[in-house]
Amino acid sequence: MLGSVLLAAARSDTIKRVVSAAPVTRPVVDRFVAGERLADAVAATTGLVADGLDVTLDHLGEDVTDRSEALRSRDACLALIDALRGEGLETRAELSVKLSAFGQALPGGHDLAQRNVLAVAEAAAAAGTTVTLDMEDHTTTDSTLAIHADLRKRFPETGVAVQSYLFRTEADCRTLAAAGARVRLVKGAYREPAAVAHQDRHEVDRAYVRCLRILLAGRGYPMIGTHDPRLVEIARALAARFGRAPDTFEFQMLYGIRPEEQRRLAGQGHRVRVYVPYGTDWYGYFMRRLAERPANLAFFARSLVSR
Ligand code: FAD
Repeated sequence: MLGSVLLAAARSDTIKRVVSAAPVTRPVVDRFVAGERLADAVAATTGLVADGLDVTLDHLGEDVTDRSEALRSRDACLALIDALRGEGLETRAELSVKLSAFGQALPGGHDLAQRNVLAVAEAAAAAGTTVTLDMEDHTTTDSTLAIHADLRKRFPETGVAVQSYLFRTEADCRTLAAAGARVRLVKGAYREPAAVAHQDRHEVDRAYVRCLRILLAGRGYPMIGTHDPRLVEIARALAARFGRAPDTFEFQMLYGIRPEEQRRLAGQGHRVRVYVPYGTDWYGYFMRRLAERPANLAFFARSLVSR
């Protein structure tokens, strides 16, 4: 219930203005976001890589409302790629991009987002790194998977996220696993209607395991995006059962969430990639993290009261 309210708030411009302006918000945001500047993202990446972790960087932004903003998102990604290469981080750090930041929701948005992400994928490939497409709400899934399939014709290493809460995702996993793709499996972070998505979290978890089986048994490179200890253990057991070598799949977790577990898994020989968001447009991302865990909201509320 509270989660739904927060997810609705994540898309409210009015609440965005209030929350973003409150000075108390900043320390809580800092737990989940590496900083506002590119230099902050590079510094966080350098630290994580030194600890034996890989990284995927998200220049924050989503749901842009005009074409110039979409171009600014693209240019921020191009600057990020230059910086990664400049620092020699291109083999350890890739990019995660949201197609709504590239204009997907604008009129003619599919083609616009495709052109913008193509420029980023080209630059990433030239620099020796890769791109993964985040998955947003279910109205964008067909467009995002189509753009992913198209990008893979030239850049087969391009990844995509899929969400176990959607009924369609097992079928999508079968297609992607057969095609040998890099696929990040997550539970899903948006508020979705009962017509398209499981509403019960146990159902979402069971669907996650079914998708895990398909991906780990398949020909692709599964990227297991979860902090859920039970699912991590099931993934490890399934990977062993399907004879997966450690370099044929990876775990992924978000910056600031279960950092000790990230290091523990890496210490056991698993590849672990941390999703590092940075930039000024942190509101939507931050609200989804609050929605996932009521304790985060309590932490936020305490920081308001203790001032
Ligand atoms: P949960 O059951 O939510 O959490 C399990 C445990 O993890 C919790 O008990 C808690 O200890 C810890 N935990 C989880 N979330 C939090 C939090 N916010 N704060 C503090 N502790 C927490 N979703 C999309 O819809 N599209 C995407 O493209 C996408 N990309 C992602 C990329 C990565 C690398 C990861 C890890 C997640 C991504 N997500 C994405 C978010 C995902 O869908 C879930 O909302 C999120 O991961 C929480 O689910 P969980 O699997 O960690 O399990």
